[in-house]
Amino acid sequence: MDLTTAYVFDAAHRIVGHPGKCAWLHGHTYHLELTVSAPSLNPLGMVMDFDDLRDVVKKAVLDLWDHATLLAAHDPLGPAIRAVQHQAPDRVVLFEGQPTAEVLTREAWTRLERQLPAGITLERVAIRETPSCGSAISRPPR
Ligand SMILES: [Zn+2]
Repeated sequence: MDLTTAYVFDAAHRIVGHPGKCAWLHGHTYHLELTVSAPSLNPLGMVMDFDDLRDVVKKAVLDLWDHATLLAAHDPLGPAIRAVQHQAPDRVVLFEGQPTAEVLTREAWTRLERQLPAGITLERVAIRETPSCGSAISRPPR
C-alpha cells in the first residue's frame, strides 16, 4: 500500500548559462510530493506515521533547502552569496549539476531513500517549481 504526502519549501536558484530568464537569480515556492510504500500495514493500520515521514523529509530535504539559495557548484554567485550571508553559509547549497527541478528531484530521491526506515520503500518523488512545471522520478514497476 502507498502513502502520499506533500510539502512546500521556498528557495532561490538560477540556471547559470541559460539563454533566457532562468539565468537570473529568482525564487520559487517549490512543492515536493512523495509516495512511499510498505508491503503491509503496521498494527496501527498505517504504512508509516505521517509525522515520522515528515521528520524524515524535514531532515533529508526541507531543513537543507528551505530559504536557501540553490546553485550549480561552478556558479560564481555561490562564493559571493556566502560572503554576504556569512552568518549562514549553509543557506547556499551547491549541486554538481544545475539546480533544475530535475536535478533537485534526483537529489531529493537519493537523500530520502537513504533516510527512510527499514521496510519503507520510496516509490515516487516529484518537485514542482510552479503549479504547471515540475519533475518526477518513480521506482520502476517491480
Ligand atoms: Zn526557476
